[in-house]
Amino acid sequence: MNIALIAHDRKKEDLVNFATAYRHIFADHSLFATGTTGKRISEATALSITRFLSGPMGGDQQLGALVAEGKLDLVLFFRDPLQAQPHEPDISALIRLCDVHDVPIATNMGTAEVLLAGLKNGAFDFRKKETYGSREE
Ligand code: PGA
Repeated sequence: MNIALIAHDRKKEDLVNFATAYRHIFADHSLFATGTTGKRISEATALSITRFLSGPMGGDQQLGALVAEGKLDLVLFFRDPLQAQPHEPDISALIRLCDVHDVPIATNMGTAEVLLAGLKNGAFDFRKKETYGSREE
């Protein structure tokens, strides 16, 4: 599966800890991330991560483009709900595209826990079906 990892500044430590705890699972998948998040996680875990621009510079939109192309199967996005983000429109656009394309997205660690459990037990097999990622509406 192709998994995207994003965390706002005050949530980055949480995502680094999460990725460290589940390193053995993430190691079996292809990882993508916004710039700073990807740097922090790869430094802490030595996982191989394809990094895009930093979120405020367009990284969320780059990941959104992958969602639109059917190239992401899961998005883990640890948002900061208590601080305004200058790139809020990009964040909304990424979440919207996940909804358009039925891509599972966690916006907090609780949901991420559930989705990671699903990743282990085959709940993501629906992503392998041809109907997903090939919609042209
Ligand atoms: P960053 O971007 O990983 O480059 O900090 C994340 C974001 O703020 O959307």
